[in-house]
Amino acid sequence: MNSIRFFIIMAGLLLLLSLFIVPPGTIVADDKIQCISEMLVLESAGELYVIDHKVPGEKTMSVADFLAQQFLSKPVKCPKDGTYRTKLFNTSEVQVECSSHGILDDKKKKEYRKYSISKMSPVQKIANCKLQMRFIEGAIELYCMDHDTIPKTADELIKAEYMKKPGVLCPENGAYSFSVDEKSFLDAKSDNSAEVKIQVKCSTHGILPLEK
Ligand SMILES: [Zn+2]
Ligand SMILES: [Zn+2]
Repeated sequence: MNSIRFFIIMAGLLLLLSLFIVPPGTIVADDKIQCISEMLVLESAGELYVIDHKVPGEKTMSVADFLAQQFLSKPVKCPKDGTYRTKLFNTSEVQVECSSHGILDDKKKKEYRKYSISKMSPVQKIANCKLQMRFIEGAIELYCMDHDTIPKTADELIKAEYMKKPGVLCPENGAYSFSVDEKSFLDAKSDNSAEVKIQVKCSTHGILPLEK
């Protein structure tokens, strides 16, 4: 189960990094946005950490702690020289805080997402949606491997921890839906080499593989 959770977090991390149109460490005009992007990197490091380690109650990590234990490959830095503190809880929850910009909450994440999308070209938006769909496809594949039933909704995937809430979001506000071919699912149950046929669709961008 841990390796699957690891895959999911890694895939989530890749999705997140795909939103880094402004790579971490690059100075942008807006200090706050820059700080949020650094805090997102810390949050991912924290999420990887809690998979690897049992956290008793609560634990606070500094940037130096993450670097020393190789959960960060290079330092993250607030453009206003704020100090970062990452709290890890035994519930696997991770909370990042900057002494200048405050806690990395959903509002800040939304702001960052909005900013990133505003910087994407039309081609990048499609590529990003495609990545989200690949992620959904991967989550469904894993779910099918572990279960005797086909997932019907994204909520089922989230509940079984194959995706995190709010799940994945299309940069152009498409709604995602999917279907799994029942026969291929049953075939894959009796023959490990058989592939489960999965179709993921975005209401804005269409069905994978999005050849265009
Ligand atoms: Zn800051
Ligand atoms: Zn889309």
